[in-house]
Amino acid sequence: MKVAVIGLGAIGIQVLWQLSQTSGIEAHGFDRAYPGHPSAGAGGESRLYWNMELVEPNYTALIDRAATAWRKLESASNQVLRDPTGVLIYGREGDAQIQCAYKSARELGVPYELLGASRLRKQFPHILFGQNSLGLWDTTGAVIRPERTVEVTAELARRHGARIHEFSPISRIDVSDDPVRILTATGWQVFDRVVVSCGGWSSKLVPYIRSEVVTRRLTSMWFSGYDDNHFTGFPPFLRCAPHYCYGIPSRDRRSVKLGLGFNNHYVSGDADRFPRQLEGDDLIRELKKFEWIQQEMLPGISRRPYRIDTFVESYTRSMLEYIRPHPQNANVLVMTGFSGHGFRVSPAIGEIGCQLVISGKSDLDIRFLERASPVFSILDPEQGITTENSVMTNCE
Ligand SMILES: Cc1cc2nc3c(=O)[nH]c(=O)nc-3n(C[C@H](O)[C@H](O)[C@H](O)COP(=O)(O)OP(=O)(O)OC[C@H]3O[C@@H](n4cnc5c(N)ncnc54)[C@H](O)[C@@H]3O)c2cc1C
Repeated sequence: MKVAVIGLGAIGIQVLWQLSQTSGIEAHGFDRAYPGHPSAGAGGESRLYWNMELVEPNYTALIDRAATAWRKLESASNQVLRDPTGVLIYGREGDAQIQCAYKSARELGVPYELLGASRLRKQFPHILFGQNSLGLWDTTGAVIRPERTVEVTAELARRHGARIHEFSPISRIDVSDDPVRILTATGWQVFDRVVVSCGGWSSKLVPYIRSEVVTRRLTSMWFSGYDDNHFTGFPPFLRCAPHYCYGIPSRDRRSVKLGLGFNNHYVSGDADRFPRQLEGDDLIRELKKFEWIQQEMLPGISRRPYRIDTFVESYTRSMLEYIRPHPQNANVLVMTGFSGHGFRVSPAIGEIGCQLVISGKSDLDIRFLERASPVFSILDPEQGITTENSVMTNCE
């Protein structure tokens, strides 16, 4: 069976690696750049790996599966792809997301410490915590090295015979035929199965998903500390409330990368149409969105960032992944909408994608992904305009 995986980012590369290990499969991967490039959804040096679920109780099955799948990937590559730092999840006592995280940690049996406001202040003096703050220290949480993970997985796939076509954008898929035809820069090619895993660009190949999936531009900002040793002991963190944001210290503990949540991302219906380099009013607007973090939460960081980058991500209405066959051709599997948390589960998604390609079924029941309730509505699918995400709190 000849299979094409289109888009070799966080997800596609894991699917390709799994396919390459399956006998009887001729696996081809296409990327418009190359595996591990920094400018799609998987760039920016770091990703949080946390072991708890903040919203959807059924998601814990995927988290559990991912823990094993990451160990398999690290063992097969003999590489440390996640730095074992621990991760702080925090919010306010009584917040639904903190309750959900606490419940899922207990259910999954992952090690954690429950930290009240005074413990939080003592342990992490870099962060200003409110009176009713409550935190969970995810002891086995980690910081993923995203570009390295994709690159290392590509190497594993190559070793198992996968053919990786770099700088090979796919511009169309013809689903009317069996086998399926895809248009490469050098002409049409045919495949028995096709996986579309182009992240925020997926809707360009399968436009019908626009009623379910939107694209956003995300800004990451890197700040140093006023004091050069400020980040000693600084935790990778995810703050759910009162305003959502996250921070990841650099590996040398000289800076922190900060990011915001869905409601603060740049709205667009087309991942190729928004500016990626921030300038003028766009830059001022983005800087403004981050100002409260220095003022209210991290007083020891520099006033302005020393590095700013933008990335692209796809979001479903439920904020849970979109993994479904094409409605007109079941030989095309669409895997997108990883909604800002896809990296931590990516090796597990790779296993599931491979099973779906081969047999149309996966051993992990993922029907809950389709049943989950929406947390925002899509008002204009072409422009990507939505209502606010009701689970995530704004910073403005
Ligand atoms: C700023 C930011 C912070 C995040 N933080 C976290 C985190 O802390 N923890 C976590 O778990 N997740 C996090 N995520 C989410 C995670 O990184 C994404 O869910 C994940 O990268 C999505 O994977 P993907 O394969 O769908 O898309 P991508 O990783 O974007 O890969 C898509 C690939 O498709 C290629 N492509 C696009 N169009 C074509 C085409 N026509 N032909 C060929 N190739 C094409 C692109 O070049 C790219 O390589 C974050 C995302 C962002 C953007």
